[in-house]
Amino acid sequence: MRLILLGPPGAGKGTQAARLVEKHGIVQLSTGDMLRAAVAAESEVGLQVKGILDRGELVSDDVICKIISDRIEEPDCANGFILDGFPRTIAQADALGDLLEEKALKLDGVVQLEVDEAILLERIEKRARESAEVRSDDNADALKKRLAVYNEQTAPLVAYYEARGMLKKVDGMQSVDEVASQIDAALTAE
Ligand code: AMP
Repeated sequence: MRLILLGPPGAGKGTQAARLVEKHGIVQLSTGDMLRAAVAAESEVGLQVKGILDRGELVSDDVICKIISDRIEEPDCANGFILDGFPRTIAQADALGDLLEEKALKLDGVVQLEVDEAILLERIEKRARESAEVRSDDNADALKKRLAVYNEQTAPLVAYYEARGMLKKVDGMQSVDEVASQIDAALTAE
């Protein structure tokens, strides 16, 4: 199974991706996690993107698409994957389409977690309080920027995938279990 999880920061993409990993035996490909690992390792890419992440801006499409293209080739992706945090722009979605076509792989669906923006800040502040490792972009300024970037650059992907008949909308405001079962239902209803 190959899926995209779409939704603003704090929508619960990471939490739901972890559930799907367990249920379907597939891997979670979180571009945010990969970039944070690169920053922590102080790799060339990490040094290049650190400031961008801290400000809540987007890393260039070229850098991200190369990371994903390489990652999809790894043997653990053979059974399928969940893209969490990618694509984030129309250009990335186009590049992903080309990439999958080249590799003769099919996407099974795009799950959109719909959430009320007003409560996102609250959720992220909670994540920052409860998480052992505090993200350098889980603060009010960076979050505001991340939400603005989402609305400008990523939200158009909803119409993009809807037009391709791939979008599955799920109410992300319910409990973790309820959201998970709605995702299951959306993925089995064809
Ligand atoms: P996330 O963990 O998905 O919220 O991502 C954290 C940060 O990593 C974002 O605010 C961006 O700076 C960067 N990032 C993650 N995924 C992408 C992507 N697909 N395109 C560009 N930047 C990304």
